[in-house]
Amino acid sequence: MADFDETFDWVVVGSGAGSMSSALVMREAGKSVLILEKTEFVGGTTSKSGGVMWIPNNRFIRAEEPDESAEKAITYLDAVSNDGTDTPGTSHEKRLAYVNEAPKMLDFIIEQGVEVERASHFWPDYYDDLPGGCKTSRCVTAKYFNLKELGSWEKKLRPGFMPVPAKLDDGMKLAFKKHSWKIKMIFAKIACAVVYGKLTGKHYTTAGAALQGRMLKASLAVGVDIRTESPVKELIVESGKVTGVVAEVNGQLRRIGANLGVLVNAGGIAQNQALRDKYMPGTRAEWSQTPEGDTGDMHIEMERIGGVLAQMDQMVGYQMTRSPGWEQMYVKPPGQSLTGKPGAILVDQSGLRYLNEGGSYELYCQNMLERNKTVPAVPSWAILDGRYLREYQVAYMKMKPELIAKWRNAGYLKVADTIENLASQINVDPAVLRSTINRWNGFVDKGVDEDFGRGAREYDKWLGDPFKGGNPALGKIADGPFYAVEVVPGDVSTYGGALTDTKGRVVKADGEPIPGLYACGVSTASVMGGVYPGAGASIGPSMTFGYIAAKHAAGVENSL
Ligand SMILES: Cc1cc2nc3c(=O)[nH]c(=O)nc-3n(C[C@H](O)[C@H](O)[C@H](O)COP(=O)(O)OP(=O)(O)OC[C@H]3O[C@@H](n4cnc5c(N)ncnc54)[C@H](O)[C@@H]3O)c2cc1C
Repeated sequence: MADFDETFDWVVVGSGAGSMSSALVMREAGKSVLILEKTEFVGGTTSKSGGVMWIPNNRFIRAEEPDESAEKAITYLDAVSNDGTDTPGTSHEKRLAYVNEAPKMLDFIIEQGVEVERASHFWPDYYDDLPGGCKTSRCVTAKYFNLKELGSWEKKLRPGFMPVPAKLDDGMKLAFKKHSWKIKMIFAKIACAVVYGKLTGKHYTTAGAALQGRMLKASLAVGVDIRTESPVKELIVESGKVTGVVAEVNGQLRRIGANLGVLVNAGGIAQNQALRDKYMPGTRAEWSQTPEGDTGDMHIEMERIGGVLAQMDQMVGYQMTRSPGWEQMYVKPPGQSLTGKPGAILVDQSGLRYLNEGGSYELYCQNMLERNKTVPAVPSWAILDGRYLREYQVAYMKMKPELIAKWRNAGYLKVADTIENLASQINVDPAVLRSTINRWNGFVDKGVDEDFGRGAREYDKWLGDPFKGGNPALGKIADGPFYAVEVVPGDVSTYGGALTDTKGRVVKADGEPIPGLYACGVSTASVMGGVYPGAGASIGPSMTFGYIAAKHAAGVENSL
């Protein structure tokens, strides 16, 4: 029997999304919990994220849309997920476990005092045209949160990217405020809430930090022990069973026992360039939006003790554009909204379109990397016209003349009066780019993208411009001057890791679980396989499989 410095019932490695949903279950069952977090902040990438959870058949959608059901959700997941030897992290049974347990997990955290709401009524699934697809919204987010409620823990929560008292999806509408009184009113409401917050000493945040802030508050309230700057170095195995961990706490190595099990919720490998080179060559850690702790330590450790890593070539790709200063930005400039808007397309380095610019960001980046195997496409070029620059933002910025000049001088923004001159600036054959644009403009006239189907899905329209008229995702590139900026396949996470079963247990090559070891989130091979079915398809599963694992380990599967 290992000689432990201290022992808990449940030890969690990492403070990601599933860490605290599992901790709340354990505390409800009367068990002791320790969460060990490597960095100085609690919350992981989840805290920095949009905090959207994709929870099909949740209480909010059920109340408003009677045709939503578990059957509809599993139909969709079965249609969208690619079962196969290269995606062993998913199976019908595992997806069914997700569909059945995710709404229960949501109800459970609500009972624990975590306030959440439906994220908009229009945030469609990314493949909404497939059977069971949702054209409204299966997404749930935490209500915005006053960080002061965390007391001395306020400074220990990983900062979010939207520190405002606003609903995430309301915040996203503000770019269109000049077009709509309704959006102007939303803006006014947010502005009032900001002023009220300042006057009353509140410190509001929304999105992922609101989710993790609320989860942290609930966890602290029920006595979960959480330690930051406490990296786990090793899983302790005795007679084939994981019985604890070795962690560095206050600079000292401590052996910590876990009576019921260890849950690995330690994120992905996005910040580990060596692992990226091994599993997903051609991708870069510096293009990832993930924080510094996402280095895959536990991937290596789980594999060392007999776990099987799978789907390691998968990432939740999120295209980005390297505008001047991008390296220093907390959230790097997104490329998603860039080419999804009318008046923009993406071309490879030969000047050809090769994807639906409006689709899922995960698929978009997969397409970029795939294309790059035959035609140079990393980086690719976003081609934008004059109307685009007047109407929309590039890399978060409204494109005023001074900024256009500055970014042009910096070499980032290419500017030309004609398509042919633009082509020369990006080393593309002018005839090829001209023909690509003519073809695209022809599709816009017909209202149908005959090459890649852009604008056919509700999700493409969601990314477009609802105030332009016609199909929101389509718009000609016709109005000079013409512009180009490069786009690279960044990411918001990796998506591969340890193989787990329907109970969240880490399994060996023979499919048998490793006793005492559970994992969730992007430390595991995603239950979604190689696809991203909708916004929140990373955090939803992490929260849910943390909840499932804890219920199993505590023996409360039937009572919670
Ligand atoms: C800007 C942005 C927006 C996003 N928006 C969304 C969204 O709205 N919805 C969605 O589903 N996904 C979103 N994503 C992706 C999503 O945030 C991540 O995939 C998800 O949060 C991963 O959660 P997790 O629970 O697996 O782990 P994480 O939240 O990453 O937590 C893992 C934790 O483990 C810690 N850790 C690592 N190694 C060790 C160790 N050895 N010992 C102790 N601790 C360790 C890490 O420091 C980290 O704190 C977004 C990402 C970004 C960056």
